[in-house]
Amino acid sequence: MKDDLRLTRHPRYEGNIMPIEKPSDIPERWRNTPIEELILSQNFEKEIIPQESPQLSVATCIEFRYQPRLPSSFAYILRRAGGHLIGSEFSLTYTLAKGVRHLALVGHNDCGMTKVADHKQKMIDTLIEQGWYKDRAEDYISIYASRYAIPDELDTLQREYLRLRRLFKKLEIAPLFISLAKSKFYLPTWYFRMLINGDVDKAVGSESPVRDEDILPLI
Ligand SMILES: [Zn+2]
Repeated sequence: MKDDLRLTRHPRYEGNIMPIEKPSDIPERWRNTPIEELILSQNFEKEIIPQESPQLSVATCIEFRYQPRLPSSFAYILRRAGGHLIGSEFSLTYTLAKGVRHLALVGHNDCGMTKVADHKQKMIDTLIEQGWYKDRAEDYISIYASRYAIPDELDTLQREYLRLRRLFKKLEIAPLFISLAKSKFYLPTWYFRMLINGDVDKAVGSESPVRDEDILPLI
C-alpha cells in the first residue's frame, strides 16, 4: 500500500501517525479480537462474518466522507461531531450491557470540528431560520461550539481515549486514525509509544493524566 503522502507529510500529522501496511502491524493486544477484524476489513478488505451477538462498538465523527466497512449484525456505531462521546456515555454503556467488550475510537484528518469558529455564524443563522430566537440561537451555539470544537484531531483522540479508559476500565479501547483520502486506518504514534512503554494498562488508574473532574463533564 502506498502511503497517503499528503496526509503523512501534513504538518499536523507528520510523525504523529503510523501506517498499518500489513496485518502483522496490528498491535498484539488486538489480535483475535473484533478490533483486529475491523482493521483487517478497512485496510485489507477482509470480509467480516456477521455474528448473533454484537462484537464491537465504533465511535467516530459524523463526517460524511468516512463510512466504517462493517456488515449488519456486528457492531454498534456511535457518531458524534469530532468523535467526542461526552453526552453519549449512556449509549456506550448500553452496548457494554449487550456484551460488547471492545471499542474502536476513530479520529480522522480534516475534521470540521477543528474549524468550528468558521461555521459558528452560519450555524446561528441556521437556527434562526429554523425558528429559534436570535439570543437563544447565539447562546446555544456559543456553549456547544466550545464543547465540540477541537484544536487538533490527534490530541483530541488521545484525550478522549484517556477519559474513556478512566470511565470504562474493563473496556479494550483502540484509538485509530482514518485517512479520508485512502480510507485506511493509521495508528496514532502516541498510542504506539504507550504500548512500547507498557502504559496502556496504567491509563485506567491513578497514574492517568485525566483530572477527576474531567472524566464525566456534564456540559
Ligand atoms: Zn470530524
